[in-house]
Amino acid sequence: MSHSYNIAIDGPAGAGKSTVAKRIARELNYIYVDTGAMYRAMALYLIHNQVDSRDQAAIAEACRYADISIEYQDGEQVVLLNGENVNAYLRTEEVGNMASVSSAVPEVRLKLVELQRRLAAKADVVMDGRDIGTYVLPDADVKIYLTASSRTRAERRFLELKEKGGNRSLDEIEQDIVERDRRDMSREFAPLRQAEDAVLVDSSDMTADEVVERIISLCR
Ligand code: C5P
Repeated sequence: MSHSYNIAIDGPAGAGKSTVAKRIARELNYIYVDTGAMYRAMALYLIHNQVDSRDQAAIAEACRYADISIEYQDGEQVVLLNGENVNAYLRTEEVGNMASVSSAVPEVRLKLVELQRRLAAKADVVMDGRDIGTYVLPDADVKIYLTASSRTRAERRFLELKEKGGNRSLDEIEQDIVERDRRDMSREFAPLRQAEDAVLVDSSDMTADEVVERIISLCR
């Protein structure tokens, strides 16, 4: 089997990773792997089973019974939780908050990292997350660390939530983002950080198209 080509995109919440990763995957005819959705599916399972987000041992135990797998339907990633398509339930704030906490538990990470590595070994992928370049795929062909100021990221999130009828203020959203960054960067196991061989792209003053172009030119 020939070597599969892997592009790793890491960065904090709201930097635009999924938007650009999706477009890059389409242009290069790669598969887009959204690892955040896997952590969210695990969080959904924990919520459904009323696991206390402060109880690490309970999370470590419960996650053994969540079977998470991925399918592609019309080029879209579909997350299956114990065989059921849960895509429609993943993008809520409740699930995001639980994912931010439960993703720090090593048992959760080890389980999902195994799935991520399997996907990357068998196909050309653009994979986005927090620890792809540093931990999941240390030999990725291209590594990007995509970031933006917390204010810019909050503004993007604010617009996205407003479209869905949300009513939280920009300041509240920014505080939330800063808190999530802190949790992702300070956890012991595979924290968020820029890999030494990653290219830093700050999207604060760039359009999504410009970021896509920049990353594709790096791939070439
Ligand atoms: O990117 P997204 O907001 O969907 O990720 C949800 C949560 O999953 C994040 O807050 C982060 O804590 C966690 N995550 C992670 N490692 C990844 C992807 C996501 O810890 N590779």
